[in-house]
Amino acid sequence: MQAWQPLPWQSQLWHQLVHCQQSDNLAHAYLLRGMPGVGKAQFAKAFAAYLLCKSPVDEQACGFCKECELLKAGSHPDIVIVEPDDPGRPIRIDRVRQLNEFSHKTAQQGGRRVIVINPAEAMNLNASNALLKCLEEPGDNTVFLLVSARTGDMLPTIRSRCQQLKFATPDRASAEQWLSGHLDNHIDQVAMLLDQTGDAPLEAKRFADEGLLEKRLELAHCVKGLFKGAMSPVELAKDWQKSDLVLTLTWLISWLEDSVRLEQGVAESDIRNTDQEKMLSYIATKVSGRAILEERDWLIKQRQALLEGGNLNGQILMEGAFSRYLELVL
Ligand SMILES: [Zn+2]
Repeated sequence: MQAWQPLPWQSQLWHQLVHCQQSDNLAHAYLLRGMPGVGKAQFAKAFAAYLLCKSPVDEQACGFCKECELLKAGSHPDIVIVEPDDPGRPIRIDRVRQLNEFSHKTAQQGGRRVIVINPAEAMNLNASNALLKCLEEPGDNTVFLLVSARTGDMLPTIRSRCQQLKFATPDRASAEQWLSGHLDNHIDQVAMLLDQTGDAPLEAKRFADEGLLEKRLELAHCVKGLFKGAMSPVELAKDWQKSDLVLTLTWLISWLEDSVRLEQGVAESDIRNTDQEKMLSYIATKVSGRAILEERDWLIKQRQALLEGGNLNGQILMEGAFSRYLELVL
């Protein structure tokens, strides 16, 4: 039942919501916001389970009653979890249209109905408008839990109809403790994983599970090869165009930000990518901070276009990124 429990650093928000439920003051829609990997979706599912459970224990779903069994089997009739078919893809409008009917029928198990939308920014304009109709005329006893790391990309009219719950990152000690107990590999790299993910434990676990620390090192290796003339931007773009482009750009951006810090005289130990200090100092000695920031801003613009669902050509995008990187040190 672990997937249906809140995470240790979420207890304050959890008690706040449980209190609302117990005092019959639950809003009909909540927006769970905060950076990726802090456990918003898990919280939403855990709270949905708590609302549906017939006999909660310690203010959490019991895991054993008929409701909890149905939930674990994925066949509870009073909950709908709307997610994209594949991560990073839009949520289909027909999934949202079905919600209208669902939110107005009587709960089959006699309690509440819960709708989880994750991530809410994955709804395009049509899907958002369809959801807005549901939010404007909610059925009795229906609770919407919208999850988003990018609330700025949501329709403002949807945001304003939700009570907002802000999820902060846990402190380093809590993050380390949780991550250490949940890693299958990279157990000796807990600190590095948290450094690279801004202390977001679930994102750090994803980095470990998907070998993203290695991927990052591979990218650093490629950039060094680029600087040495061992590889061309076109060759590198061929290798990287199929990668997670948002993440690849995020690493390239983060390195430039550290280069600027070094150029401004910040101590080597105070940058985020201490393991790449040599390469970053090299960039900083070759070019002015202003030129580095211009390149960074260009990368941020491309990343934003990707996040907004823009259909950029991966090869051309990465060729541009690597060419511009190379120009910095020429
Ligand atoms: Zn239960």
